[in-house]
Amino acid sequence: MVRVAVIGVGTLGVKIAGSLAYGGHEVRVQDQNTITLNKVSVIINEDKRILKEDGLITNTNFLGEVYCFSKLEDAVREAEFIFECVTEDIVAKQNIFKHISMCCSDNAIIATSSMRLSIDQIIENVNCKDRCLGVRFLYPVYFVPEVELLPSRTYTSLQTLERVRQFLEKMGRIAFFRSGNEPIVLNDQQREARKAAFVRQIYENKGVNHRFAQTIPDLGAINSVKPENDGENSVDQQSLIVREKECVICMDHQRDCVLHPCHHLCVCIQCGRLLLKRSDSCPICRRTINNAFRVYHS
Ligand SMILES: [Zn+2]
Ligand SMILES: [Zn+2]
Repeated sequence: MVRVAVIGVGTLGVKIAGSLAYGGHEVRVQDQNTITLNKVSVIINEDKRILKEDGLITNTNFLGEVYCFSKLEDAVREAEFIFECVTEDIVAKQNIFKHISMCCSDNAIIATSSMRLSIDQIIENVNCKDRCLGVRFLYPVYFVPEVELLPSRTYTSLQTLERVRQFLEKMGRIAFFRSGNEPIVLNDQQREARKAAFVRQIYENKGVNHRFAQTIPDLGAINSVKPENDGENSVDQQSLIVREKECVICMDHQRDCVLHPCHHLCVCIQCGRLLLKRSDSCPICRRTINNAFRVYHS
């Protein structure tokens, strides 16, 4: 599991967020528009229902979690990959990139979903240009394996490209560089073909989901995805256990605060009180918080 952030959860952003959670990652989303942000869980739940109906998901839930934040700095804190999906506007993207670069971790990769804007221009005011590039998931994301990479020829480092490629390939994605100037947009027929191929793949591999959930290699399956080596897996498992207990906001303290009235336990008491003070909502369900109670673990 990797910690990722999606900034801007409009039509494309919410699909990317859902898809990354489907892939087992901890997804932290933010949008300036509160109404858009509050709709995220409803849209993702609806996506889950449709994916299940279409045979694209074998579990009832995604393996990863989606947390919603009003503040950009809360969403990008300690995220390894940050996907910017705000509207296709150069000034908006430049500002978001600058803001992200000022509060993200020192090794975070920042990707823009821009279709046609120049990556060099988007990252103009950013210090960490070597860790920036364009990464375009093709709509509707969940079952489309192709992902376009648009590095800056001047700035994006090879290491950045390699990290992105590995991250995508582990999720069963195919990363490629755009050829020519035109972005690829799939038509209905192409989408249907990919959906059918994806269902077939799930059937043959006994579920794409399974390879993230399993700790024991599935020896019975033909063509099953190669299990990760043991060392890497156990580290992954350990970090998963640690993360399940740590506050989703400060990522420092234990989760020891129950938010009222939704009763979600995902933050520490300090962050719970902070959310309450700034009239913010629950990172899981986006319900208004009326109170924050300390809980004591035995
Ligand atoms: Zn906290
Ligand atoms: Zn809640």
